Amino acid sequence: METILTGIRVNGELTLGNLLGALLPMSRLAEQYKATHKINVFVPDLHTIIADVDGDLRANTLKSLRYYAAAGLDLAHENIAIYRQSYVPAHSELCWILDCVATMGEMNRMTQFKEKSGAGDGTNVGIFNYPVLMAADILLYSAKYVPVGEDQFQHLELTRNLAERFNNRFGEVFTLPAATAEQAAFMQGLAAEGKKADGIRIRDLQNPEKKMSKSSRAENSKIMMSDTPEAAAAKIMSATTDSVNKVQFDMFNQPGISNLLQILALVTGDTLESVASRFAGETRYGEFKRKVADAVEQFMYEFQAKAAEVSDEDILAALVRGEKLANEIANAKLLEVQKAVALR
Ligand code: ATP
Ligand code: MG
Repeated sequence: METILTGIRVNGELTLGNLLGALLPMSRLAEQYKATHKINVFVPDLHTIIADVDGDLRANTLKSLRYYAAAGLDLAHENIAIYRQSYVPAHSELCWILDCVATMGEMNRMTQFKEKSGAGDGTNVGIFNYPVLMAADILLYSAKYVPVGEDQFQHLELTRNLAERFNNRFGEVFTLPAATAEQAAFMQGLAAEGKKADGIRIRDLQNPEKKMSKSSRAENSKIMMSDTPEAAAAKIMSATTDSVNKVQFDMFNQPGISNLLQILALVTGDTLESVASRFAGETRYGEFKRKVADAVEQFMYEFQAKAAEVSDEDILAALVRGEKLANEIANAKLLEVQKAVALR
């Protein structure tokens, strides 16, 4: 069985954007492939601490897994393994060994690092090194597909390069993840089937030129999954629109209205085309917003009810099972690596 590996970064409460753009598509992906693939869903808690964490990391982990379960991730399925990165020490161990294979030159070329290292000498080493930890996350499980955003493709290429260099130097130990073109095709295939809404970007409700971000300070700009359904509806009602007075999907000229159409489609599970055609000819934004607000309110209500039904016991049981399995697979691969470099 091929392995699909995906990580969920947890750093505080989630927005509706995170849910619609990441958790729901990832849960659908797991649903689609669980019968034929091994699916690793891990919480990259060691990656999370490269930046300040809002609130308690352990509590955030449980909360986000609760949201995943509410989004349809089948915690109990035998082919789905859920684990916390820090509970599988082989990740850190392999990271060190791969550090001794990686070069300063290639690491310095990582665009993400260049973008995030604004603090100069004050930048922590974790920010520089995390692509190597990511390579370890993938190679320990011989994962073939790693659904990530395009911004992570460079790190996937790095993973392939490190694995290949290691294999050349020490013998065939690692299975390379699929090349980025094939990864992209896999993800586009999902997008075409409407399974992974690749490229979905929910916009900031107050400033729809920007994406909705949990770190945004303006409360009305984002819907948090912990908002009451009524509060979420009120935020939709106060969303920025435009003066075109046409309800149509045109992200370039009408980002606010287009964002609301997109949200409506996603929370009702309908296609964008069908939702847009329903409002063709509508000129009253108030009426339109009311419909979107009602749908969001209903969605929040149902989602929160589902999330409340997921027990901590079920999440912890899934983690215990997943972490046992992950340690078995990861430790076996790590031992191969250690033998290859003659540490064992
Ligand atoms: P921050 O403001 O701290 O960067 P964020 O809301 O951007 O928070 P991330 O933790 O950076 O969230 O991303 C978590 C996941 O949610 C990623 O898979 C990211 O692609 C997705 N995501 C983030 N914002 C949106 C959005 N507005 N629409 C769709 N998906 C999003
Ligand atoms: Mg972000």
